[in-house]
Amino acid sequence: MRIDMTGEAGDPGRPNEDYASAALPSAGEGGALVVLDGVTPPQDGTGCTHGVPWFTARLGGALLELATSRRELTLRRCLSEAISRTAAEHSSTCDLSHRRTPQATVVTARWDERSVEYLVLSDSVLVMEHPHGSVTPVLDSRLHQLPPHIGSLRRRVRELPEDSAERGAARAEYANAVEALRNAPGGEGFYTAAADPAVASLAVTGSAPRAEVRALLALTDGAARWSEVFRLGDWTALLGLVREEGSEALVARVREAERADPHGAAHPRGKTHDDASVVFAELGTGAQATRPTTRRPVRSPRPTGS
Ligand SMILES: [Zn+2]
Repeated sequence: MRIDMTGEAGDPGRPNEDYASAALPSAGEGGALVVLDGVTPPQDGTGCTHGVPWFTARLGGALLELATSRRELTLRRCLSEAISRTAAEHSSTCDLSHRRTPQATVVTARWDERSVEYLVLSDSVLVMEHPHGSVTPVLDSRLHQLPPHIGSLRRRVRELPEDSAERGAARAEYANAVEALRNAPGGEGFYTAAADPAVASLAVTGSAPRAEVRALLALTDGAARWSEVFRLGDWTALLGLVREEGSEALVARVREAERADPHGAAHPRGKTHDDASVVFAELGTGAQATRPTTRRPVRSPRPTGS
C-alpha cells in the first residue's frame, strides 16, 4: 500500500480551502481517503465567523474518522454524520441557514480485503484503476448538466471584451445564477456538503470488488483541470502521470498550463489558479489475489561488537 498526497493553494497569499487526508488503520488490509474542495464565498458574508478552512478541516476530519472507525456505516451515513457533527460545532455561534454557509465538494473512498466503496458529491473526481490498466472515473455530473439559461449566461461572459465593465457585470450575473442552483430544492441544481445532512443521500456512490481495483486517485477540480480544462490527456494519462512522476508533478503541470494562459483565452475557467489537491492510493492487487510465493527474507545486518 502506498499513498502519495499533494495539496497546494491556488494563490499563495490565501489559505488553501481544499482538504486532503488518508488513513491506513492497523486492522486488516483496509484504508480510506477523503478529499474536499471548500467553496470560496464572495466577499459579502456567509453567516459564519470561522471560515472555509475551519469548516473543511472539521468536516474532512470527522468523515475520515467515521469512515475508518465505523465500517458498519455506509459512506452516505458517514457523510451525513460528519455534516451533523460539523454543524453542531458552530450552530450556536453562526447562521447555518445562510445560503453561503461554508460548504464543500466531497470525494471519499474506503477499502478492505474484499471491496472498495466510494462516494462523490459535486465536481471533485475519483478515478479507479483496474488491474490491467483501464480506468473508471466516478463523477457527479450534475454541475455540468445545469439548465440551458446557465449556458447562455456563460457564453455571454466569454463574448464580451476582457477586463470590460460589461464582462464584469455578466460574470456576476452568471455567478449568481449558478449559486441559486446550489443546494436548491427541486432537483435541477447541484449539491455540496454544507449544514444539511440530508444532502448525503444525493451523493453518487458505489462499490467494486477489491480484486478489480489496483489504485484510486482523488482530485479536486483544481488538479483535475489538467484533463477537464487544459485537455493535456485523458484520465488514464493523468493517472499514469501521477504514478510515474508523483502527485506534485501533476499540480506543477497544471500551474505551467495556467501560466501559459493567464487570462483563460484558450482555456476558459473560473479562476486563473485554483487550490489543487491530489490523493493517490496504490492498493496493489489485493490480499486475496496476490499471496506471493515466499521470498527470501530480508534481514538486518548483524550488529558488530557490543
Ligand atoms: Zn461558523
